[in-house]
Amino acid sequence: MWQAEVRVDLAAIRHNVRRLREAAPGAELMAVVKADGYGHGMVPVARAALAAGATWLGVCTVDEALRLRQAGITAPVLAWLLAPGAPAAAAIAAEVHVSAASAAQLEEFAAAAREAGRPAQVHLKLDTGLARGGATPVEWPALLEAAGKAQAGGEVEVVGVWSHLIHPGGLHPDTDHQIAEFRHGLASAERFGIRPRLRHLANSAGVLTRSDTHFELVRAGIALYGLSPVAGEDFGLRPAMTARGRVMLTKRVPAGQGVSYGHTYRTERESTLAVVPLGYGDGVPRAASSAGPVQLAGRRRAIAGRVCMDQFMIDCGDDPVAAGDVAVLFGPGDGGEPTADDWAETVGTINYEIVTRFGGSRVPRVYDHDE
Ligand SMILES: *Cc1c(COP(=O)(O)O)cnc(C)c1O
Repeated sequence: MWQAEVRVDLAAIRHNVRRLREAAPGAELMAVVKADGYGHGMVPVARAALAAGATWLGVCTVDEALRLRQAGITAPVLAWLLAPGAPAAAAIAAEVHVSAASAAQLEEFAAAAREAGRPAQVHLKLDTGLARGGATPVEWPALLEAAGKAQAGGEVEVVGVWSHLIHPGGLHPDTDHQIAEFRHGLASAERFGIRPRLRHLANSAGVLTRSDTHFELVRAGIALYGLSPVAGEDFGLRPAMTARGRVMLTKRVPAGQGVSYGHTYRTERESTLAVVPLGYGDGVPRAASSAGPVQLAGRRRAIAGRVCMDQFMIDCGDDPVAAGDVAVLFGPGDGGEPTADDWAETVGTINYEIVTRFGGSRVPRVYDHDE
């Protein structure tokens, strides 16, 4: 590392996959690698997850799915966010499974299947309460009827029926209600002659806390990356991402020196400032101004003043900090460094957002324990 880097421990990804498979031994595991693998890098994570026993990959967009195929990955892939006009034919041609929430969407997929010259492999999505994707229970029979017809016509093959949980942590009464609604939707499907090979409902929280959400397939995202879906419980997972930067400059400043844009922070006494070349352009939340925890020269410190686009400062007092020292923003926590959970708590967000922010950034990603 010469300036800054995000390190991703692929052995941790593999460990987390094994941990998730132990938690849901009867189900296949879909590794959710959307949003560039929650910032960890979609393709390397997908490969590591498949090597450790995941059998499916889950993404949002057709673009993401096709990038997996372009990387030579042949495992089953489900893409679940297709707006009208999305390149469904390209997805179907690449044997990417797609999710359908309405008869209109099924019609699009049937037309795309004719264009692709092969049936669309479809997972019908039931909205059991999240009020996001999927057909509502009222719309469900119409979707089933359309799916039955499309399947009889040979343009569509219904592979799955699925839904998504409202709450991280399974012990909410809504989860019971969602499971009941899901089972009810499956019973209706049966009446329309639709018997999906795969029923799937669980996210990471479902995998780790509710075996009655497991069915034939579970979809794990955050736990794959070693972060807990339930604050305060670690489930034996290992965080995969470490974000660090090298101090590029230190300077001695007098007491009362305002630091960074707007001078929202002032030194209390004469002090050494360290400048770290990471900012909100790299994924550091600006909301971490004068708050974000950083491990530097053997101590936990906080960012001093505003996080800039490309840099932030740390007030190191009289500690011997020098250019070239490494500042760790977050990692697994073994070396006393902050974790993504610490960052989430500090800036009032969730660990998902902290790591995902570092995806697609200009910070180079380095992989450890690649096999
Ligand atoms: C992102 C996502 C997941 C993974 O959720 P985690 O809480 O990260 O395990 C599963 N299913 C769907 C539909 C998603 O959008």
